[in-house]
Amino acid sequence: MSRAILPILVCAIFITIVIIIIQPDFVINVEAQDAGQKHFSHLRERMIKNQISHPPDYREPVRDKKVLEAMRTVPRHLFVKPQDTSRAYWDCPIPIGYGQTISQPYIVALMTELLDVKPEHKVLEVGTGSGYQAAILSCIAKDVYSVEIVRALEEQAALRFKRLKYGNVRTKVDDGYYGWKENAPFDRIIVTCAATIVPPPLLKQLKPGGKICIPVGGQYAVQFLTIINKSMAGTISMQKMIPVRFVPLTRTIR
Ligand code: SAH
Repeated sequence: MSRAILPILVCAIFITIVIIIIQPDFVINVEAQDAGQKHFSHLRERMIKNQISHPPDYREPVRDKKVLEAMRTVPRHLFVKPQDTSRAYWDCPIPIGYGQTISQPYIVALMTELLDVKPEHKVLEVGTGSGYQAAILSCIAKDVYSVEIVRALEEQAALRFKRLKYGNVRTKVDDGYYGWKENAPFDRIIVTCAATIVPPPLLKQLKPGGKICIPVGGQYAVQFLTIINKSMAGTISMQKMIPVRFVPLTRTIR
């Protein structure tokens, strides 16, 4: 060994010992992050088993493998406010500000299953909210277009999609009652706020053979999760699924 290498070697050993003894932030952070990720993926597994694939009550199990896989991968705790992280995986909706909520995990899974999304599909969502439902859809569909009427929510969701690399989701601030004409027609449409009637522009922007999943009913009335099918000939049929409770579809951009 040449003499020049010896001091470098001594220095390297010294620095390694110092790092082991004082454990600087970056060493601890990597370990903490790892433990955190394991903790949340464990919570997701529990959420899927106890609420979605084997609900303990009258609810129909959701069994679609693509849907369960998406629910397994999307970090729901990053779609709620920091103070709500600990209850992100509970069996309930959670407020996200501006009087709006992120839907209960079971409802997100059920709506996604009922929508029967295929990998080649272009999907429209009305009501981006936190962005969680759009992120789930983006794991299954080719492209997701999501419209939100509350500007601040759209901005936060767009930032989440960028940070978490959901590159196939596009958002805009607008009244989703009118759909997204420039990107129509859509294979599937999901509405995550309750409408008193099915908005006619959405029926128009749906491809023949397409489906819409939408809660229908007034704010204080019984709402039904409804599936609408458009046949290849263009005829519309509707099927009421289960009673639900959603925030209303509003008409003023704010
Ligand atoms: N899909 C959301 C659920 C959000 S709650 C999620 O995963 O978090 C419903 C959302 O619909 C709210 O953010 C509300 O602001 C939005 N909304 C209500 N009326 C709307 C309209 N006409 N067009 C677009 N979004 C609307």
